[in-house]
Amino acid sequence: MPVRVKHKFHPLPTVRDLIKMYKIRAEKQLAQNFLLCTKTNRRIVNAAGKIKNNYIFEVGPGPGGITRAILEKNVIGLTVVEKDKRFLPGLELIKDTAKHTEMEIFIGDILSFNMNQRFPDELKEQWEDGLPKIKILGNLPFNISTGLILKWLEDISNQNGAWSYGRVPLTLTFQKEVAQRLAAPINSKFRSRLSVMSQYLCDVNHVYNIPAEKFRPKPEVDAGVVNFVPKVEPLIKQPYPLVEKVVRHVFHYRQKRCQKSISTLFPPDQTVEYTQEMIRAAEIDDRARPFQLAIEQYAQLCEKYSEICQHDPLLRDYDYRSPSSAAMRREFRHRKREEMLGV
Ligand code: SAM
Repeated sequence: MPVRVKHKFHPLPTVRDLIKMYKIRAEKQLAQNFLLCTKTNRRIVNAAGKIKNNYIFEVGPGPGGITRAILEKNVIGLTVVEKDKRFLPGLELIKDTAKHTEMEIFIGDILSFNMNQRFPDELKEQWEDGLPKIKILGNLPFNISTGLILKWLEDISNQNGAWSYGRVPLTLTFQKEVAQRLAAPINSKFRSRLSVMSQYLCDVNHVYNIPAEKFRPKPEVDAGVVNFVPKVEPLIKQPYPLVEKVVRHVFHYRQKRCQKSISTLFPPDQTVEYTQEMIRAAEIDDRARPFQLAIEQYAQLCEKYSEICQHDPLLRDYDYRSPSSAAMRREFRHRKREEMLGV
């Protein structure tokens, strides 16, 4: 007679128990808001699509709720990077139960973590081929999430770090408003610098939201889960720092006409001429605001800016906010006033 097993034996304490066992109190400066509900953790992992036999990289595993949901999927490898060493014993316990998965735990800062040579070489795919069997996942600490995604977008544009293995997709949580910005279409009230920077390099999908109540401690805002799949061809072909500079300047005055913010790219004595050139090149309507421009128009702005900088290389280093630029503007205004007065 076969014996019916009613309850599967589970050698691991629950995430909640692990937190109690190691007396871990959430640290505000590490943006620690934990997800203790198995269903919620599985839903995040499912948002990454099929991950069986993939190699996963998880950011900020903390007490390991998402880590367990990843391991349930029989992935071939899992690397986790956690800044807070108090989680190490709990993560070691989880690692001990990972039968099918090679798991590595790093205690360190994700912002300086080197992802070169992190994955097995045989997983490498050519950029223009299919996606590699590598995925990046994480319930990100909110305080570093924007900086981290911008850093990774730069790696995507340079095809380095994790992206030296091909078009590695990411599934990450952000504060809901950041998720809305990342995925915002043209004309949306959430359209911002982040929308253009992420969407020129990736297909971005704000998959769903996680209510603040699901986290412990409860944060002030809901979270949003976002998927990124790097595009084969970026929609803007210029180097990332140039794109970043142009897009940041254009969104400088989000609610004002583009002309005003584009002019901040140039020193006062060249503003009129170059701003007009940029506006003509991107066929920008006189009344258009930055959130009303298509990515193709940002591409044309970047092309034109690059052309202007080739012609006038000193412009590359011109920064509207630097003290020397402010002095330059003051001097220019002074000169204009004197010219008007006929001094
Ligand atoms: N994954 C866990 C969960 O969903 O319950 C924890 C998520 S919590 C929002 C963010 C985690 O990232 C915390 O465990 C925190 O210690 C960790 N963390 C914060 N800053 C970090 C950094 N710079 N590098 C790596 N981990 C970091």
